[in-house]
Amino acid sequence: MASPHGSSREGRARGDRLARWSEFEERYVRDHAGEGAKAIAEALGRTVASVQWKASSMGVSLLKRWLCPRCGRYSYHPPAKWSGWCRRCSVEHSADSAAMKNRELRAEIAEERRRIQESERRRQAIYADTSRRKRELCRLRELPQSNHK
Ligand SMILES: [Zn+2]
Repeated sequence: MASPHGSSREGRARGDRLARWSEFEERYVRDHAGEGAKAIAEALGRTVASVQWKASSMGVSLLKRWLCPRCGRYSYHPPAKWSGWCRRCSVEHSADSAAMKNRELRAEIAEERRRIQESERRRQAIYADTSRRKRELCRLRELPQSNHK
């Protein structure tokens, strides 16, 4: 790790102010810690080693993390590619959509069943009516009641 004092590499492109960290830079390290040492080093024009040293002296972790746009929490794992969300949000979302598909399927089955039952009732009513009419016709023609119903 680079020394805080006197390493000329720390102040790359910063002329003679090389080793001093301004309040702005310290705040920047704190606020952008989750972007990782490399991104901060590029933004501040310092070396990665110097940013790492500074963060550690401030007690700030430079572990790269990602903000999940769905739940607003930070995660130390990259977001799922298909969703851009943290693992928990991604899994929750797929569980939700699986549950929705399941509900749709159940509703479709219930509707199919209802329609079949309705047709069966209608068919039964027609059969019953046909048999009544046949008996009525036999009665009107004074024929003996046939064995067909
Ligand atoms: Zn999330």
